Amino acid sequence: MEKFNIAIDGPASSGKSTVAKILAKDYGFIYTDTGAMYRSVTYLAIKHQVAFDDEMGLVNLIAKYPITFSQSPAGQLVFCDGEDVTQAVRSPEVTNNVSEVSAHAKVREELVRQQQKIAKDGGVVMDGRDIGTQVLPDARVKIFLVASVDERAQRRYSENLEKGIPTDLETLKKEIQQRDYLDSHREVSPLKQAKDAVLIDTTGMGIDDVVAAIKKVVADQVDPALA
Ligand code: C5P
Repeated sequence: MEKFNIAIDGPASSGKSTVAKILAKDYGFIYTDTGAMYRSVTYLAIKHQVAFDDEMGLVNLIAKYPITFSQSPAGQLVFCDGEDVTQAVRSPEVTNNVSEVSAHAKVREELVRQQQKIAKDGGVVMDGRDIGTQVLPDARVKIFLVASVDERAQRRYSENLEKGIPTDLETLKKEIQQRDYLDSHREVSPLKQAKDAVLIDTTGMGIDDVVAAIKKVVADQVDPALA
């Protein structure tokens, strides 16, 4: 099969990573969660007491503690200099501060460079906020996933319940709205639909329906055998 890249962007909790993982598995592609990279830098900043507004301090952390991914039967794992941070980067403290860290131009420059390197040979499904616009502007397939705030908060709430983490639906909604606002209003590479991305509103759709909708786009744009 031809090696091409799929870029999936969209706001917080729009289901990007869930569908990206399924697509990667079905097509035999590599999945790259770029949000986990910005989350890792935020985690490192908390751990090493680097202020979220200290741009050069954050860049130095990226150089000192390389961020890597590895596959395991339980799914993709994220490491910072060999430390497994897969769970730690999902903490509320990281989630509520990652938008400040990801707004720095030099932090983005370094992580985008690493993301482009991962995708240079094709065969990658990459999700994030600026994949279609900045990281992989030549990606063969670009998808922009959206869903109502109410539905995104409800999905996150149910996920947390399943994991036994008690959360408040209204708080979740506010946090999602705040992160959307910061991510789409920052100066550098704000969250934005690429001109050539296909918009899919997943409100009211199940995961299988979203995957099928994306595969239809892949089939139309790349190869009918990939439906
Ligand atoms: O995708 P996820 O919600 O894990 O992303 C966490 C945060 O990382 C986002 O809210 C955003 O601030 C940042 N991010 C980004 N660019 C990307 C991916 C994520 O700025 N490509």
